[in-house]
Amino acid sequence: MSTAATERTNLLGLPRPALETFVAQLGSRPFRARQLMNWIYKRGAGEFAEMSDLARDFRARLAREAEVRPPEVVSTQRSADGTLKWLLRADAAQAFEMVFIPEPDRGTLCISSQVGCALDCSFCATAQQGFNRNLSTAEIVGQVWLASTQLAREAAGADPAAAGGGPSGERRVTNVVLMGMGEPLANFRNVVPALEIFLDDFGFDLSRRRVTLSTSGLVPQIYKLAEVSNVALAVSLHAPDDALRSELVPINRKHPIAELLPACWHYLDEQNGRSVTFEYVMLDGVNDSPAHARALAKLLKGHPAKVNLIPFNPFPGTRYTRSPAPVIQRFRDELLQRGVLATVRRTRGEDIDAACGQLAGRVIDRTTVRLGNKVIGVAVQP
Ligand code: SAH
Repeated sequence: MSTAATERTNLLGLPRPALETFVAQLGSRPFRARQLMNWIYKRGAGEFAEMSDLARDFRARLAREAEVRPPEVVSTQRSADGTLKWLLRADAAQAFEMVFIPEPDRGTLCISSQVGCALDCSFCATAQQGFNRNLSTAEIVGQVWLASTQLAREAAGADPAAAGGGPSGERRVTNVVLMGMGEPLANFRNVVPALEIFLDDFGFDLSRRRVTLSTSGLVPQIYKLAEVSNVALAVSLHAPDDALRSELVPINRKHPIAELLPACWHYLDEQNGRSVTFEYVMLDGVNDSPAHARALAKLLKGHPAKVNLIPFNPFPGTRYTRSPAPVIQRFRDELLQRGVLATVRRTRGEDIDAACGQLAGRVIDRTTVRLGNKVIGVAVQP
């Protein structure tokens, strides 16, 4: 990467008001920002030279001062079921992952918000790697831009790598979920502007129900999010009581269930949301008994909640195994019988380690300061 490139402003990091200010600084009229966004997000243009309805000198000025730069692709993998996984460069030594899941009626892009994660959930592959840094807004938005433009190229038949590329399904990004690597609410400052670009009519123009932020339960940030965004909220609950949840999702020790649930209902009230999705990973013999299901139903009954049961996806070194299918069905039935909506997430992309909780990337941990093998301190908190 040349020095000039790093000095240019990456337009993928600027929501519309910031882009208007930037355009004004370049001596152009603010409405040019909408034209620019139209090129970048609707037409997938990455080169200013292509933007034929912009004045020639403005394009030249943009080419000097700005760029449209998504993360660099290290590699891609294609699953037999059509799922695509990208490994994206964070820096010379590190990388993060993104997954596209085609289904008949939608195409879901699962994006990352951090390089690694500091929350240390005991059943998650990302947690094992530790945390390095937050992704920038441009890196978050750049994932969606990159996938959308690549899929559009494939659809146009321009990418030979995609030839015969798996079963059919929606091959456009219609839904975005922040369920890749990282805790999005621990990177609030960069995630919120990205959400704005996803929803903006001149950006990706996604409806707020098609953008889902998944959190492990950072309670103060859920209240903050309610003030600035109205995307769909998913919460990784995974256990119906504090003792078990603290073991699986350690942030629960700081923000227990009795604080987490009111924050969720508050979010819905403020945002006129339909319901919160509670994710619940099915761990064999750990959190999957009928008694757990009944306790969960008691917590959620009467509230606008849906439960999404996620069969555990194993990864090297994990001590957990997946609950057998009949156990998952029984759990679901217990919830349904008690009037709590519940679905089972279909596992996709397992053959390329692209399923929930399997994203690992390449992360240099800097949350723990080690001396030889001994941990001597914690350097970064979420
Ligand atoms: N940090 C956020 C988003 C990332 S994880 C969060 O915790 O919600 C996206 C979902 O995958 C979460 O519900 C997470 O708990 C779940 N998950 C993590 N590891 C998993 C695994 N090994 N198998 C199945 N689901 C897993």
